[in-house]
Amino acid sequence: MAMLQAKHPGESEYLQAVQEVLESIEEIYNQHPEFENAKIVERMVEPDRIFTFRVTWIDDRGEVQSNLGYRVQFNSAIGPYKGGLRFHRAVTPSMLKFLGFEQTFKNALTTLPMGGAKGGSDFDPVGKSDNEIMRFCQAFMLELWRCIGPDQDIPAGDVGVGGREIGFLNGMYQKLAREYHTGVLTGKGATWGGSILRPEATGFGALYFTQHLLHKAGKDIKDKKVAISGFGNVAWGAVKKAMQLGAKVVAISGPDGVCVVPDGMTAEMNDYMLDMRASNRNKVEDMAVKFPGKAQFIAGKKAWSVPCDIALPCAFQNELSEDDAKELKANGCWCCCEVSNMGCQPGAIHFFQNNGVLFAPGKAVNAGGVATSGLEMTQNAAHLSWTAKEVDDRLHQIMESIHEQCVKFGTRADGSVDYVKGANIAGFMKVATAMLEQGII
Ligand code: GLU
Repeated sequence: MAMLQAKHPGESEYLQAVQEVLESIEEIYNQHPEFENAKIVERMVEPDRIFTFRVTWIDDRGEVQSNLGYRVQFNSAIGPYKGGLRFHRAVTPSMLKFLGFEQTFKNALTTLPMGGAKGGSDFDPVGKSDNEIMRFCQAFMLELWRCIGPDQDIPAGDVGVGGREIGFLNGMYQKLAREYHTGVLTGKGATWGGSILRPEATGFGALYFTQHLLHKAGKDIKDKKVAISGFGNVAWGAVKKAMQLGAKVVAISGPDGVCVVPDGMTAEMNDYMLDMRASNRNKVEDMAVKFPGKAQFIAGKKAWSVPCDIALPCAFQNELSEDDAKELKANGCWCCCEVSNMGCQPGAIHFFQNNGVLFAPGKAVNAGGVATSGLEMTQNAAHLSWTAKEVDDRLHQIMESIHEQCVKFGTRADGSVDYVKGANIAGFMKVATAMLEQGII
């Protein structure tokens, strides 16, 4: 860590993500001198390569805009580079390196042959028109297309990139590359190579994982109160599946505050989240305006201030602090499944683990999204589409397997499970073994 800090000063998110993994694997690493001889850790913490490019486009007023674009190809030991694109004003190389690093472990957990990558831009979608989004996506692809390919690197969505953006990106890729296969991006529309259930998959998978975790702890999700942050694609799928499983979603939050929903979200309210995202306003208050009497908006507050049994962070890294964790616990929360990538700060994770709150990390909980991207790649390669049931059954199996891997590597002496350790060791062992077997490259 000291070497890495000296080499990459100020890359706080990236260093945080690496630190968490190294702490978890220290013991097992020291039992494998062959890893040390091949400098597996030193090689695994650095991306294979990073592409950086300028993206120039013209806004609706006719003014020239310039952003930075990136693709971090992190690790290809177990398969082609795979991971989403994030469009957010705060995107930096440090953020994408942390996400690419996490993705490598997460993809290893899915049981599918996918390496890790991440990309994106500091482009801010908030307040942009559909035409501006399209022009930006086209300009972004003008640079990215040479770095990607169906057997090489397969991007998908992440924060700020959903079905609409994947459509614009795919259209431009086909035009530039003159390749009309369907396999270069995942999260595509259902009529042009997308997998059924991919939009729901991250949220659905997170709830399947939560069910397994609760079952292992002798608990059930039915009638439990759930607080969720975010109102993007991931939160939408999580709310939908939580409701199907009989839980009550009592809060959703955004950067402007929280909407408290004492009687629980309805299907109509959940569908409205899609309109909220597409509006590019980034305001959760819109829910309370649309459904007065059902949702009450409180400005400046997080979902973690609302009493609940289960907390599901579904928004952004480091969105849940140690103080939030304490407030959740004081209000009766006993389980937190991290759905966003690195959604909980280290202090929050330690507080949960030391105070009897069940906790599981994002790389295990949210892996259903990229796993279903992997299923989309399989369908594309075979030139066919599976039914919703086939995709859902496979997603179920994958989430069960991820849970089993966490239990295998994370069970403590008292029989309880350290899911952070379990997920990190399981992912590490797979990638490290693959690297070792393929020589010094
Ligand atoms: N961005 C998602 C993630 O963090 C999905 C990536 C993908 O489907 O490739 O895992």
